[in-house]
Amino acid sequence: MTERSVIVVGGGVAGIAAALRLSERGARVTLIETRTKLGGRATSFEDSRSGRWIDNCQHVAMGCCTNYLDLCDRLGVSDQLTWTDTTWWVEEGGRTSTIRPGVLPAPAHFARAFASASFLTLGEKRAIAGAMHAALRTDRESQTDETFAQWLAAHNQPAGAVAKFWEPVVVSACNLDCGRVSAASALHVFQEGFLSHKSASRIAVSKVPLLRLYDKAETVIASAGGTILLRTSVSRVGEGSVTLADGTELHADRVICAIPLDRAARFVDGEIRQRDDRLRAAAAHLTHSPIIGVHLAFDRAVMETPHAVLVGRETQWLFRKDGAGTRIHAVISAADAWVSLPEDEIVDRVMRDIRACYPRAERASISEARAVKEKLATFGATTEFERVRPATTGDSELILAGDFVQTGWPATMEGAARSGYMAAAAALGMETDAMLVPPLRPRVVARMIGKRAFRPQMRTPRL
Ligand SMILES: Cc1cc2nc3c(=O)[nH]c(=O)nc-3n(C[C@H](O)[C@H](O)[C@H](O)COP(=O)(O)OP(=O)(O)OC[C@H]3O[C@@H](n4cnc5c(N)ncnc54)[C@H](O)[C@@H]3O)c2cc1C
Repeated sequence: MTERSVIVVGGGVAGIAAALRLSERGARVTLIETRTKLGGRATSFEDSRSGRWIDNCQHVAMGCCTNYLDLCDRLGVSDQLTWTDTTWWVEEGGRTSTIRPGVLPAPAHFARAFASASFLTLGEKRAIAGAMHAALRTDRESQTDETFAQWLAAHNQPAGAVAKFWEPVVVSACNLDCGRVSAASALHVFQEGFLSHKSASRIAVSKVPLLRLYDKAETVIASAGGTILLRTSVSRVGEGSVTLADGTELHADRVICAIPLDRAARFVDGEIRQRDDRLRAAAAHLTHSPIIGVHLAFDRAVMETPHAVLVGRETQWLFRKDGAGTRIHAVISAADAWVSLPEDEIVDRVMRDIRACYPRAERASISEARAVKEKLATFGATTEFERVRPATTGDSELILAGDFVQTGWPATMEGAARSGYMAAAAALGMETDAMLVPPLRPRVVARMIGKRAFRPQMRTPRL
């Protein structure tokens, strides 16, 4: 137990994770959040048109998200997640391929499902199998200088395999297309999320609005002795102090800055920024990638499966939001081409994709539609950014947390939770990985093939 006092600025998943682990260890924690609720970008709001609580966008976790799942456990909300080990890939006309792990051990657990999938030709399947084998043997940390498109080209991937398989997986997981995302980030997804373990690719979605998951954090952190200041903005972040927007100064032994990178670069004390290059270098290469979530209600059932990947369509994923299949949530990641469109055009485009893949939707009429644009949804995991992605600690006392911190993960709730656990450990004077939940242990065959791929390591940012 420690008597250390720690201020955590920002109550998204990263800030919640840090505050919770610190409170559990007896630190005196003050968590400061500008909004009325915790949760940050993983959030819900009351839709003024329908009066329903809806999420800004469907958030998906996977079996490989060991730290995020640990956080859910500590918050007592694991039973609010619903799981499936299957993905349904729907082509134009409605033909559906069911991809679920078979009896073979990882990394061959999807071999049978892929062999019988209808959306890929035999040549495309062979090429994908070859690239998966190569992905298992690739040391992803050495791949920060090339894009995933370059990596795919070097591994002879035909255009059909890229368009129908690699692109939808990468865009959904990294929120950036193969031409822009760093190969290190994309390879991480395939190594940790698909190849290492049968359970890694299981998909979890929340049964309740996201806000209700993170609401629990208030009581859990408070009952562990922490203080939560909501509706409170920080205007300056120092090493042992922060200044609130109303001018109040708060002091602590350590400060964890868990606000998005662009804001951190603005609010962190200028003197710290001069001494500690982490923020300047990363902010200089920061780009954002948008996501659009579209909530739809129909007068009849449209969709039978819990979710679907739409093959070759701009709308990448659909999620069924009720048992009947009349409520659907559509997700468009890396939505640069869509963000400036008005809502009715976005809904039209999504409907074109839905009707193409679900002929029964032709006769359905829409009773509710709401498109939510998140222009700054995530940072862009480009090669330029990955090279300077900031570490938890640096040349000052300032501790950073947030999905942008160097965790190896794309901008995800797992990345945010990991960064929070790493920041908590740093604030307690421990090694940053001391409180991390280890990844799923790769199965023996995957380990034998992928000796280099699964070697744990942290990159040194090239400032
Ligand atoms: C549309 C969308 C879809 C997504 N889908 C997925 C998905 O399917 N799966 C997945 O894993 N991830 C997904 N993500 C990414 C995921 O939501 C984020 O990676 C994660 O929530 C980031 O958490 P964070 O704590 O790092 O940052 P944030 O959530 O941004 O938290 C930062 C907090 O700091 C607060 N803050 C900012 N400035 C101040 C200040 N001056 N003073 C006090 N507080 C301040 C903010 O209000 C915020 O609450 C999605 C994101 C979006 C936007």
